Amino acid sequence: MPESAQLNIAVVGGGPGGYAAAFLAADLGMNVTLIDPELNPGGVCLYRGCIPSKALLHVAKLIEESQQAKAWGIDFPKPNIDLARLRSWKESVVKKLTGGLGQLSKQRKVQYVQGHAAFENSRTLRISKSDGTQASVSFDRIIIATGSRPAIIPSLKLDSPRMMDSTGALNLPDVPKTLLVVGGGYIGLELGSVYAALGTRVTVVEMLPGLLPGADRDLVLPLQKRLEKMFEGILLNTTVASLKEEATGIRATFEGSEVKEREQVFDRVLVSVGRKPNSEIPGLEKTQVRVGARSFIQVNKQLQTDDPSIYAIGDVVGEPMLAHKASHEGRVAIEAIAGHKVAFEPNAIPAVVFTDPEVAWCGLTETRAQEEGREIKVAKFPWGASGRAITIDRPDGVTKLIVDPQTERVLGVGIVGAGAGELIAEGVLAIEMAALARDVALSIHPHPTLSETVMESAEVFFGTSTHVYRPKRA
Ligand SMILES: Cc1cc2nc3c(=O)[nH]c(=O)nc-3n(C[C@H](O)[C@H](O)[C@H](O)COP(=O)(O)OP(=O)(O)OC[C@H]3O[C@@H](n4cnc5c(N)ncnc54)[C@H](O)[C@@H]3O)c2cc1C
Repeated sequence: MPESAQLNIAVVGGGPGGYAAAFLAADLGMNVTLIDPELNPGGVCLYRGCIPSKALLHVAKLIEESQQAKAWGIDFPKPNIDLARLRSWKESVVKKLTGGLGQLSKQRKVQYVQGHAAFENSRTLRISKSDGTQASVSFDRIIIATGSRPAIIPSLKLDSPRMMDSTGALNLPDVPKTLLVVGGGYIGLELGSVYAALGTRVTVVEMLPGLLPGADRDLVLPLQKRLEKMFEGILLNTTVASLKEEATGIRATFEGSEVKEREQVFDRVLVSVGRKPNSEIPGLEKTQVRVGARSFIQVNKQLQTDDPSIYAIGDVVGEPMLAHKASHEGRVAIEAIAGHKVAFEPNAIPAVVFTDPEVAWCGLTETRAQEEGREIKVAKFPWGASGRAITIDRPDGVTKLIVDPQTERVLGVGIVGAGAGELIAEGVLAIEMAALARDVALSIHPHPTLSETVMESAEVFFGTSTHVYRPKRA
């Protein structure tokens, strides 16, 4: 038996980082305790993040498509929304998945403790269980996977039942007539899309000049065009100066060069202005763990903190705050503890915005290449030339490859279009396998599928795409 199999490991936080780490540790024969306040593992992602939002976005897509079907000769009546049933369906999805994780914990003999953990020293946790009892337990290694929570803008803090953060919005208290979404990032746009599909008049306000800061503008544009039709308003370069509760709603005051109506009243306000790491763990000061810029816990490439017996993973250690990054870090941390030669150094972490159309990218973006002054060649395939996109009446997409002009290696992939989130996985594989544009062009893709757009964007790189005609320069 390897020496690492004798280790006692504690994982604090049962999100996608924590439970992935705990399960791998158990698979490698370690003795694992996983601590989280919820009944089962799952964390933010399963209870109040990725999963409930995607269940609701699925419903939103169905509603939108049923309206679009009129153009295909099928006239559905306006949907009748039973909010209580919709809520309970979403909750059943969460219960099914978190219950499944509970089962997997038991099967792997992970000791799941429902409660909160605090540090007594580098190796000892004080665990306050949800049944009211407390215990001090020592471990060989402790992994911090405490995740993050919604960020708050102090000036927009308003104690009103009309105010919501992402958790409140996912609870679907009602379908308000009007909703102000503060923040044009992915969470605001996803939840705004859900409410808009259910019938709410949604206004999004973003202080920067564009939605989805950080994403390439050509990928955001088709989404913005569709959202402009779906939403009541998209206010860019605009800040919310104040929010005041009145008898009929919340009065928002806007500031910015493009503001036409300085004040508007909304039934509800959703504040989605980013997330803050949960690094204020009680007793952490009794360890050597260092908390750095923006309150992220500092780790090395093995996810080890400055305290040799403590590792940290997921949202609490930095961007991108995404579930799949957390899980991968969790697995790397456990392998490092097991003595394997590993490091967290991905070439491509995919990002997906599950709006309609979806926006997805991985590896190098055009925006970053420009910032770094890096020479790249961009090859774009418009979905108007994709047979599959036309059959589903969604030509509003683009697939692009970002290629190193010298080596012809694929450095980045960006996609906007229906189902882009599924397609981007091919880009991740291409980048991680150091594929050349030629490899992608020569791999036969099934017809008719949207995946062909990845192959054809590589053909565009060579100027020989079957479905895109580019006249030769004289
Ligand atoms: C609305 C929304 C939608 C999202 N959609 C996506 C998406 O589509 N795709 C994606 O990749 N990401 C998405 N995310 C982000 C994703 O949820 C996070 O990146 C992910 O959950 C981070 O995982 P984690 O393991 O670091 O921590 P978390 O999932 O945050 O879990 C941390 C857990 O630790 C617990 N904890 C905290 N302190 C203690 C303590 N002292 N003792 C014991 N337990 C403690 C917390 O209660 C929590 O259960 C979304 C987030 C939100 C809010």
